[in-house]
Amino acid sequence: MSEEIRLGIDLGGTKVEGIVIRRRGDDIETLAKMRRPTERERGYEHILDVTAQVLAETERQAGLKDIARIGVGMPGSETQEGFVKNANTTALNGRPFRADLVARVGRPIVFANDANCFALAETVLGAARGSRVTFGVIMGTGVGGGIVIADEGTPRVWDGAQGIAGEWGHVVLEPERGLACYCGRRGCIETLLSGPFLEKAYAARSGERRKLVDVVARRESDPAAQSTLDHLVETFGRAMATVVNVLDPDVIVLGGGVSNIDVLYDAGTEALRRWAFTDKLRTKVVKHAVGDSAGVFGAAFLPK
Ligand SMILES: [Zn+2]
Repeated sequence: MSEEIRLGIDLGGTKVEGIVIRRRGDDIETLAKMRRPTERERGYEHILDVTAQVLAETERQAGLKDIARIGVGMPGSETQEGFVKNANTTALNGRPFRADLVARVGRPIVFANDANCFALAETVLGAARGSRVTFGVIMGTGVGGGIVIADEGTPRVWDGAQGIAGEWGHVVLEPERGLACYCGRRGCIETLLSGPFLEKAYAARSGERRKLVDVVARRESDPAAQSTLDHLVETFGRAMATVVNVLDPDVIVLGGGVSNIDVLYDAGTEALRRWAFTDKLRTKVVKHAVGDSAGVFGAAFLPK
């Protein structure tokens, strides 16, 4: 069986992680792995430097050079002209990060956003293995999504006509009474399903600020916590039905802090079944299995 060497970089808000893997079919061996703080407050040039350094050092640590398959996962997406947009690491926005990194490294690099990398890693090695069409969702400080299609062999990210395929977090569910989203609209799915907004929703009900994990832990004894979770389940079902009705994926895999709330997998799936345009729901809703490294593994799987 042919052997592939792959290098993945996950550019996150707090850390830049690099990995080199050797892949023979399903057998994946990690040859090198490292991380450095992003220090994004130091600005664009610094982020570019750190990313290029992690790439070079990971390759050196693996005892290799000139690795041809390089993938980078990063926040946001890109304009037609190649400028970053919608990144929560705002120093990247409006900058030609792809072109600048390729110029430093001198080799082709495949880029995708972090939710696409997550969906890809979970399809290749995690909770969505064997799925033909996967929808991967990260519900954390924001809400992102990615589509992976493996209909004829190797799973690939579907990025769409303008690179926004899977950007489900900014589908508007409550345009009039919803809360303001950073994207400029109101009532986006992100304002209903992300961690910070769920904490806000609890605070509005109870008058107290608590961490999401505490809200979940209090649900038996605290009506405001119960009502926050009931609303989450219902909104999750409605929001997911928009995905199922359009994409009809085999597997929906959930990641990010909010994905640790267990009601999403029973009551949430039941709510989805009620809202989706089908009597019998075959789509499976599952929890992530790759863990924190999904971003960097997914990046490594990006190139052909
Ligand atoms: Zn939005």
